[in-house]
Amino acid sequence: MYNVTLIPGDGVGPEITEATLVAIEATGIKFNWETVKAGADIIEEEGTPLPQKVLDSVRKNKIALKGPLTTPIGTGFRSVNVALRKELDLFACLRPAKTIKGVKSKFDDIDLVIVRENTEDLYAGIERQVDKDTAETIKRNTRGASERIAKFAFDYAVKENRKKVTAVTKANICKFSDGLFLEASRTIAEKYPQIEYEERLVDNMCMQLVQKPELYDVLLLPNLYGDIVSDLAAGLIGGLGIAPGANYGEDMAVFEAVHGSAPKYKGLNKVNPTALILSGVLMLKHLGEIEASNNLYNAVCKVIGDGKSVTYDLGGSSSTLEMGQAIAEEVKKLEK
Ligand code: NAD
Repeated sequence: MYNVTLIPGDGVGPEITEATLVAIEATGIKFNWETVKAGADIIEEEGTPLPQKVLDSVRKNKIALKGPLTTPIGTGFRSVNVALRKELDLFACLRPAKTIKGVKSKFDDIDLVIVRENTEDLYAGIERQVDKDTAETIKRNTRGASERIAKFAFDYAVKENRKKVTAVTKANICKFSDGLFLEASRTIAEKYPQIEYEERLVDNMCMQLVQKPELYDVLLLPNLYGDIVSDLAAGLIGGLGIAPGANYGEDMAVFEAVHGSAPKYKGLNKVNPTALILSGVLMLKHLGEIEASNNLYNAVCKVIGDGKSVTYDLGGSSSTLEMGQAIAEEVKKLEK
């Protein structure tokens, strides 16, 4: 029995979480889900969008499955997602973007992994209104955090038998901050002669990913570029509905989809649960439950490949829960 913190999130979060639990539990692995709430919906009740009990629960269980959380644009509270990653020092964001047969996309055989630094850069929250007509956000990178994420990317490449790491920056313009990130990446790259290392500027990288994605493997990026390129990579494989993610610290991990709370679909039971279910695949692997992880992944591929029980974004008309249940049925067949 695994104790796992469950943060259903807001917007479409609770719906995709419900469908995800149905699919994950079909693997037969036993979980004790400790449900805690965060986000805009609980501010009135708790006085904060990120109550201490959420942090305490993840620190205790060392593992969490999380739905998306809304961040108001421009004004209001800072991102709870960013705060959670910072508070728990979840320094590495891993976002695999792999083609699933049956998903309509202009690209075949995409197999990229985004490794995004998760704690600093423009997301450090160092910003202010200088005067009425001027505002600034400081982009801060440190050598320690840059070397730590570079090491994570290379260790991942070795463990997963990947061939190449590409560091992606704008070091021609942000000479100090991205320059330091690149310097740290080079220092770490030297320690991994078996992994090819190369560098790209982020603007060129975006074009190259659309024109010849097959040239790339593991991408190592500072926080903001990592966020943006993650959505680009999701677009290459057919959309945010199937793009999973994980945030790792030294001894804990929080698994969540790349996508946000998709507020316009809230309560419609319509969006695709696959991104969170595939985050569950990563979670099972992290727990060492390799067979269950593989079965869940294969069940997702089967349901999407069949195309009968899929949500609107994949050309079907199934609800969020129906797709989760169809995946659960496939998992059960594989478990037999
Ligand atoms: P979004 O990712 O929520 O949605 C963008 C669009 O992508 C949707 O309108 C929808 O068309 C599509 N989409 C997203 N998820 C889908 C799914 N599961 N199935 C099918 N289609 C899907 O991005 P947004 O609208 O820019 O952000 C909404 C809110 O989410 C914002 O407040 C943002 O800050 C927050 N956000 C949270 C996280 C997180 O919790 N980790 C990540 C990104 C954005």
